[in-house]
Amino acid sequence: MNSFDVVVIGSGPGGYVAAIRCAQLGFKTAIVEKYSTLGGTCLNVGCIPSKALLASSHHVEEMAHFADHGIEIAGEVKFDLSKMIARKQAVVDQTSSGVKYLMDKNKITVFEGVGSFENATTINVTKADGSVESFEAKHSIIATGSKPSTLPFITLDKERIITSTEALKLPEVPKHLIIIGGGVIGLELGQVYMRLGAQVSVVEFADRILPTMDSAVSKELTKVLKKQGMKFYVSHKVQGVVREGDVVKVSAEDKKGEIITLEGDYTLVAVGRRPYTDGLNADKAGVKLTDRGQVEVNDHLQTSASNIYAIGDVVRGAMLAHKAEEEGVMVAEYLAGQRPHIDYNLIPGVVYTWPEVACVGKTEEQLKADGVEYKSGSFPFKALGRARASAETDGFVKILADKNTDEILGVHMVGARAADLIAEAVVAMEYRASAEDISRMSHAHPTFAEAIKEAALAATDNRALHV
Ligand code: FAD
Repeated sequence: MNSFDVVVIGSGPGGYVAAIRCAQLGFKTAIVEKYSTLGGTCLNVGCIPSKALLASSHHVEEMAHFADHGIEIAGEVKFDLSKMIARKQAVVDQTSSGVKYLMDKNKITVFEGVGSFENATTINVTKADGSVESFEAKHSIIATGSKPSTLPFITLDKERIITSTEALKLPEVPKHLIIIGGGVIGLELGQVYMRLGAQVSVVEFADRILPTMDSAVSKELTKVLKKQGMKFYVSHKVQGVVREGDVVKVSAEDKKGEIITLEGDYTLVAVGRRPYTDGLNADKAGVKLTDRGQVEVNDHLQTSASNIYAIGDVVRGAMLAHKAEEEGVMVAEYLAGQRPHIDYNLIPGVVYTWPEVACVGKTEEQLKADGVEYKSGSFPFKALGRARASAETDGFVKILADKNTDEILGVHMVGARAADLIAEAVVAMEYRASAEDISRMSHAHPTFAEAIKEAALAATDNRALHV
């Protein structure tokens, strides 16, 4: 029987990165993926295709503002959704073959089929034709990711009552897209179709969208998205979703017990994702799952079977590609006898709407709940020369720092390019910088990054220069 030092099950950003790092460290490595394309949720039906559609729809949206720049378009502007979706697929295909190239380059054996444990050291791969190949694995890394979750009373028909996977390849622009769930995925895909002309309504159980992020951020994004035309029904508990022909009716109850019914032609169920371990036979290997279906792991991401590790969406923590990647590297280095470490507090969270949202560290709500004495400095994009030059004046940067030591505890922002700007905050916090440190660093002018410096100045003795 073939044998490997490390077998990774699942080729998402957690799995394929773990495999590369294992190979770099000299392990004989294999990866098992049940689909014919590598890259998992992120590359195939997540991060990459959603950003491709956001990019295309952003161009459509921008055309509405061309006249402000003195640009005239002769004739009607048209777009072709099927071409947009084909372009998205081309981006996905290219990225996925890039992962295949990386597997080959690093001499990682790729098995296509469903991986399942026979016991803690034997893995079976069931291929599409039903044949089974078995091999020995000294160590395994479970990286089987997640699937969209739903509500118990909703039947997903995947035509009009859909998940994010179908929303990435709709045959038409919805007239009225009802989105259940005001989290990252719902808002990003909602903005795609709103820009293309759909009426978009978001029904959210919590009292605000992005309920786990800093409340100032969700307030600002709500304001901007409302201005763009999105409708919100927060504090509404969805009671039922019924399809009648091409119409989907969503009923929801508000806090006072009043029921509203929204009628649309598509409903996107974006209420989160569930860890995926179907077909893995984790129990045969002695791998325990939690009550929530996640693979139970210790601080080293080791499961209850000592030679098996688990990473990414299938374990506790933020369901983010870069978190999965960090965990993949951490396990590989741990297996090689190194002592790697992840600071989970410094995993940034990003929403790729426009304006973008990006956060790292503690929210103001968390600091209050933890009884931490803090100070806050904010700076609005509208006071920034670069933002005005680019007509991107929505948003702000907020820096939260320890009241006594000035150490930066959290950075939260809404605005153009926030997704890239947050890297400065991550670096600063990794090196335990103070707000004063950032306020004394030169930031090129005119840039959006100046908002970070100004927010740091605001956090230290309220001395922002341009407000
Ligand atoms: P996955 O990417 O889910 O990969 C798991 C892989 O394991 C899959 O390919 C699956 O087929 C395979 N598998 C499962 N079971 C088996 C088995 N038994 N045998 C063989 N193979 C198996 N995150 C971000 O950080 N940024 C974003 O912008 C972002 N956008 C997103 C947009 C959408 C619409 C969605 C749905 C998600 C988005 N995410 C984003 C989340 C991100 O996709 C996930 O956090 C990430 O993919 C998790 O990586 P993973 O390696 O843990 O698992």
